[in-house]
Amino acid sequence: MARLFGKEYHEHSNSWYFKSTITPLQKNEITYKKFLDETGNAVFRFESQSRRKFPADVEITYDKKRNKIIDHKCSRCEDEQCMHYLSILNYAYHNLSTDILEKNVVQTYQTKMLSHNEYWQRVVLNAIIEISDIFNHKTDKIRFHFPTFKPMLIRIISLLAANREVKEEDVPYLEKAAKQSSALSESEIEFLKLLQQKKCSFSRKGSFFTIYKKDFVKFFPIMKNLQYKIYIKETGDQLEFSTQEYHLNFQVNKHEADDYLLKASTTEKISAVFVGKTSYIFKKNKVFSINLPFTKEVAEQIFQEGYILKKEDLVYVASVVARQLGLMKC
Ligand SMILES: [Zn+2]
Repeated sequence: MARLFGKEYHEHSNSWYFKSTITPLQKNEITYKKFLDETGNAVFRFESQSRRKFPADVEITYDKKRNKIIDHKCSRCEDEQCMHYLSILNYAYHNLSTDILEKNVVQTYQTKMLSHNEYWQRVVLNAIIEISDIFNHKTDKIRFHFPTFKPMLIRIISLLAANREVKEEDVPYLEKAAKQSSALSESEIEFLKLLQQKKCSFSRKGSFFTIYKKDFVKFFPIMKNLQYKIYIKETGDQLEFSTQEYHLNFQVNKHEADDYLLKASTTEKISAVFVGKTSYIFKKNKVFSINLPFTKEVAEQIFQEGYILKKEDLVYVASVVARQLGLMKC
């Protein structure tokens, strides 16, 4: 086990320039992230805990086979041997050993995104999206919670995804947000875009989007792709899209005088229904999709109080609609 960057350290450390230019750094004043690039070289990103004392990020690419640095970049200087690079050589030599080269790392293939790639990948991997108030009939809104994505700039990423104008106060974070978003999947970005388009509010403190229930139905196709990371907040259950077809029966009962009521009839309890071109039925955390031949208004009534039919409508229901639905009794 040898000291890290020994070869380069010895090349420079005896020079007067080196001695006069480096910033002395204490152990743990510098943190680093390590990645592998597409050729298997280790890429280190060194950052200081104190930006005042050491305001630069230094990226060093190290060839593990030949034990040498093959590239380095400083975020603040253009010159080859800047004080920050030399200070990091000095720091690494005195505080780090080559055994950190053997530690497991995630291999990344986006060399331009190296700065935080592995870090943000891990954030996204561990993050979940929680939905609340799906079953709460007292509110006409639904919330999507993103606190586990912190410190990712979810609000700004959603603004970028939806191509919205950003306020001046957000401008300094745009570049960061764009970089972070590279760790998100296509579906996650689509999801944030839709949230930004349909949201009625976003809580910075709680990190949640609020939408109206009437818009919820538009989220299902994307949620289906993300079901592995979507949870129902109240129960902690993972959202699950059923692969089975949903068998829904309909019932027509005498209502008042000459009226009849067309209602959905199920043996199992339906937890919530969201009606659209395709409608989605919740049984607890399980989601079933169904295409109904009714207009939205009619379908909504069928699932709620029932849709009122006149006697003369019965013929139509019994023939045309029943063919499509399979009426139980008429
Ligand atoms: Zn520099």
